[in-house]
Formats: sequence, C-alpha cells, structure tokens
Amino acid sequence: MNEQIRHVMKVAERPPVVMVKGEGSWLWDAQGKRYLDFIQGWAVNSLGHSSPVVLDALHAQSRRLINCSPAYYNEPMARLADLVATASGLADVYLCNSGAEANEGAIKLARKWGARHRHGAFEIITMDHGFHGRTLATMSASGKPGWDAMFEPKVPGFRKVPFADIEAVKRAVTPSTVAVMLEPIQGEAGVFVAGDDFLRELRRVTRALGILLIADEIQTGIGRTGRMFGYEHAGIDPDIVTLGKGLGGGVPLAALVAAEHVSCFEYGDQGGTFGGNALMAAVGCAVVETIAASGFLDDVAERGRYLHDGLQAIATDLGHGEVRGRGLLLALQLKNRDAAKVSRSALDRGLLVNAPRPDSLRFMPSLVVSCDEIDEMLKLLRPILEHS
Ligand code: PLP
Repeated sequence: MNEQIRHVMKVAERPPVVMVKGEGSWLWDAQGKRYLDFIQGWAVNSLGHSSPVVLDALHAQSRRLINCSPAYYNEPMARLADLVATASGLADVYLCNSGAEANEGAIKLARKWGARHRHGAFEIITMDHGFHGRTLATMSASGKPGWDAMFEPKVPGFRKVPFADIEAVKRAVTPSTVAVMLEPIQGEAGVFVAGDDFLRELRRVTRALGILLIADEIQTGIGRTGRMFGYEHAGIDPDIVTLGKGLGGGVPLAALVAAEHVSCFEYGDQGGTFGGNALMAAVGCAVVETIAASGFLDDVAERGRYLHDGLQAIATDLGHGEVRGRGLLLALQLKNRDAAKVSRSALDRGLLVNAPRPDSLRFMPSLVVSCDEIDEMLKLLRPILEHS
C-alpha cells in the first residue's frame, strides 16, 4: 500500500485503502471489501457509480469525437448548452472542467459587467463559511475558517458577511459592489440552508441596487435538492449560476451560466483547452436529460424525505441534534464533536459518510439511491452512533 501511493502528492488525509471498482451505490477496494457509498465523490456521481447512462454516453461519443479543440463548435457542446439554458431560463452557457473554474469565470464575468455597467465596480459580497473552490480567487471568495491567512496575498475584491443575514449584506454594499455570490445551501460548511425568505429578499435587494446575484449551484444544482436548481425552492432567478459536480455524473464537467443582460464576455476573455470537449459534454447531456425526465425529481424529493426521516429517528432515539438540508443533501448534527471518528468507524464497517465539520455528518448518496439502500445505511450507522 505505502509503495503503491508513494508518488501521489499528499494534499488530503486519506484512509489507507485503494478503491478499484464502483457500481450504483457501492464501491470496492483493492482487498475486495465493499462499501455503501453515501459520499458519491462528494455529490458528484448523481446517477451512482458507473451508471449505464454515463457509460453509454461515453461509449457512443468516444467512438464519434472526443475533442476537436475549443476552437470549433461540437454537437454535444451545443446540445448541453441548450439543455442547461432551457432548464435554467438563462441565455448563455460556458462549459468547463471544475467548479472552481466555473466560479472563476463567474467572478470575471461579474467584474467585466461592473466595468461596463457600474463604473468599474468589482467587489463581490460573499458569505462567511462559504465554499467556492481552491484556486486563488475562489479561495479568496470562500469564507472557510482559517483560509484568510493562507497563500497570501489573496485576490482582493471580496467582502464577507454572515450567512443569510440580509441586513449585513445591505451594510456591506458600497459603490464598488458589483455582485453578491452565495450557495443556496452551504455544503462544505456542514449543510446550512440559506432559507427561501432570505433568498427572495436578497434577490429583491440586489435588483433594487442594480447589482448581480450569483448562485453557486455546484453542489446543489442538477437535481440534488429535489429541484433542478437549489434556488428554485425560493422561486428566484439569479443573474449568474455555476454548476459542476453532479452535472457530469462523475466526469469532470462544470458550467458558467449567464442571463442575457450579464453575458458580456468578448472573444478571448474566457477559454480553456478542455472546455466544452465533446466527450464530457455528451455525458452531461445524458445526465441532464435523465434528471429532467418526468418524475425523476419527485423521486429524489421522496427519497430525500425518507432519508431525512430515518436520520431523524436515529437522532431522536440517541439524543443527537437536527437533520439539515434538502432532497439528498442532508446533514445530521451530532451531540459530540466526534464526526471524524464516526466517519472512520463507518469506513471500517463498510459505510462511506462524510464529516464536513467536527459535529456533523453529511449524506450525499446518488440521486437514484433506493429505499432499501437507505435502510441498509441506517442499519450500519445506528450501532456506530450508539457507541460514539
Ligand atoms: N462550489 C461549491 C459550492 C462546492 O461545493 C465546490 C466543491 O466542493 C466547489 C465550488 C469547487 O468545485 P471543484 O472542486 O469542482 O473545483
């Protein structure tokens, strides 16, 4: 094992297992041990491991065209842009490879719009505990505790306010403000919902002030919350939306989506070698078509309620705290700060759950997880929490 991973750069603490195979809600390691996966690549494998939908799209497209370079249009790029524009009601879609890249694009687009339409305004109000990625600008935009002191100097132009505090947003606005950027549910922070009233008020205020609203839907988008986009629960329409994770169902695919009045990039402003490549875009089309099909999102919402109720029953029985989140993005508040230990014990017993903070577990199963698999997860989790 040590020899096998010798040259892998150590940027994350990983358990001493090497994963070799995945199918649906299950993963296998090199020793043949099976794990019930309620992390799914951090809410990435929206249709489960190696979904036939993803495999078929990869297979069909790879025999036709993989990458013709971003210098040319390709069919899946155009089709996915169409699907995302139709689903969101927004106008223009730029395809890229990671959530951080999509958010970098959103920041650049907002700055360009500010230069053109708000006398050079460039500052973006973001939220404490928010997470927007690990590039320099997206780390600067994020409000993750401890990050302010890292990799100095940061990219300037971000002003943080407490999450979901409309008065704090209003106080933070200056003539330099161009946008407010936030996650409808803060995922990495531990699954905290912004609240529909707050989002509606934020939309009203940003519109009244003539500044942009950017929704980072990288974790919440493409069906995760039981709606196509997390902001739909509040009935608002952001000016810019970013997507990633579940959009590709496991392959690297992300998108920057802009309303027509904001979409002001000119040739050369944005680009990247792999952006919009035919192979990843074809997978995105298959994933979005599957999730947009009639009844799919109702099932996500229903299984979300089932998981919520099962977690709540354990929490009530064992004296743990609330269950937070929406759809199939949920967290369980633990009574002790032992989430990392619980997550390690779960791994030992063949269950993968994530601990985004010392006192919370996060559950992000595939969107096609079955009620039987949810029951099995709860059966594995209960004794671990009984002994924690
Ligand atoms: N934004 C949100 C809300 C995220 O949850 C993440 C990843 O966890 C990102 C951005 C960054 O995406 P990526 O890791 O694909 O760069």
